[in-house]
Amino acid sequence: MIVQRTREPGPKFKPFSLGLGLTAPWLQKPPTPDLRRSHFNAREQAIVERIKQLKREAGSHSPSAWTLAKQVPELRLKVDACFLSNPYATNLFLGHLHREVIRPKRLRALLELYPSQNRVIANKLAPVLGLDPDSLFIGNGAIEIIQAILHRLTDRKILVNLPTFSAYYEFARPETQVVFNVLRKEEDFRFDPVRYLEIVRRERPDTVVLINPNNPDGGYIAHATMLWLLEELRDVPNVIVDESFIHFATEGIGYTYRSVADEVRRHPNLIVVKSMSKDFGVAGIRAGYAVMDPDRVRALLDNGFLWNSSGLAEYFFDLYSRPDFQERYERERVRFIRNSRRFFAALRRTEGLRVYPTQANFALVELQNGLSAEDLVWRMLVRRGIYTRTCDDKRGLEPGRFLRIAARNRPENRYIIRSLRRMMV
Ligand SMILES: *Cc1c(COP(=O)(O)O)cnc(C)c1O
Repeated sequence: MIVQRTREPGPKFKPFSLGLGLTAPWLQKPPTPDLRRSHFNAREQAIVERIKQLKREAGSHSPSAWTLAKQVPELRLKVDACFLSNPYATNLFLGHLHREVIRPKRLRALLELYPSQNRVIANKLAPVLGLDPDSLFIGNGAIEIIQAILHRLTDRKILVNLPTFSAYYEFARPETQVVFNVLRKEEDFRFDPVRYLEIVRRERPDTVVLINPNNPDGGYIAHATMLWLLEELRDVPNVIVDESFIHFATEGIGYTYRSVADEVRRHPNLIVVKSMSKDFGVAGIRAGYAVMDPDRVRALLDNGFLWNSSGLAEYFFDLYSRPDFQERYERERVRFIRNSRRFFAALRRTEGLRVYPTQANFALVELQNGLSAEDLVWRMLVRRGIYTRTCDDKRGLEPGRFLRIAARNRPENRYIIRSLRRMMV
């Protein structure tokens, strides 16, 4: 297992020249020797340049489809397969919002008044989650929680799997050392728990992070393995399990999913992070929560986070805690998972693509026909209006070869497949 010790984020982007004469060291040595380039016309080229600029400004994340549409109006964006959300869940939320807030003219109250305090929202959520309200911390999106944990609880050393969601190493304090457990492509990016524990014993990190299913590859750690790992990791002060995509992962009969959130009772070192952005398709309202030992929740709240929610996020959490919403959501969740799996199967049948095993709503795709990932991403975007994500800036992945494609609704999925098949030849 390769363990890198550098804290440095490394090159954020790998700008391929697209014939523009950009000089960067890696241009002399392209990742694949026979990279094929598209020839864009002047109009397309101008659009590509604008988007590249926006991407540079977005750091190691991608500019949102919303930003692209606003800043590059000549781009006809049709499908956002970059952002990882369940579009059926967004529709469900919108329907409720219309009937219960907008039509009865209750929006004003959500905007004019302060939202409830952190504790009040935790009390609403606790019964539906089957958890102790004192163990719940509400965040302005999961990202706020990740930041808070890394800044307040993580001390000397953090162990993160690669590839990963970049916040887990980028937001570490400068004095925190980041060590990586590199998941291997030859093993389909599968997580090896035994090898992992060896690294933990050798490196003695005070914080470890497991994202389940993992972003950007969708790799999944079975529930039984997670329970075993939690036992084995009991001496590590902070065990972060990020379950932001857990609603898409199924295990056992039907479409059930298994969270480790209630293990916090047994394991006070466990912190389960949960974003609502992806499973519920509501990134814009900034809603997330974490489950952790009540003492830790108290310590965080003693330092602020009083009204860190918002009227809309609180309305979402109210909905979330209602059985009628849960029932409707469950139907949309299953429908989306079924469609997504059909989509991944179709991707697998597409020549020139290697699709890695996924239990999330997106797939990590490797190009095998000599096209560069960035080139394909620009072509899909400029010519077909489909926004996907290159993984050129993802540490732990060979640049130029990988992209991440999110599943959308069925007509959009079909359009993505049709477009890809046309472009892969
Ligand atoms: C998107 C994402 C987050 C951040 O979610 P927000 O709630 O929108 O802040 C956290 N963790 C992972 C693994 C993610 O992919």
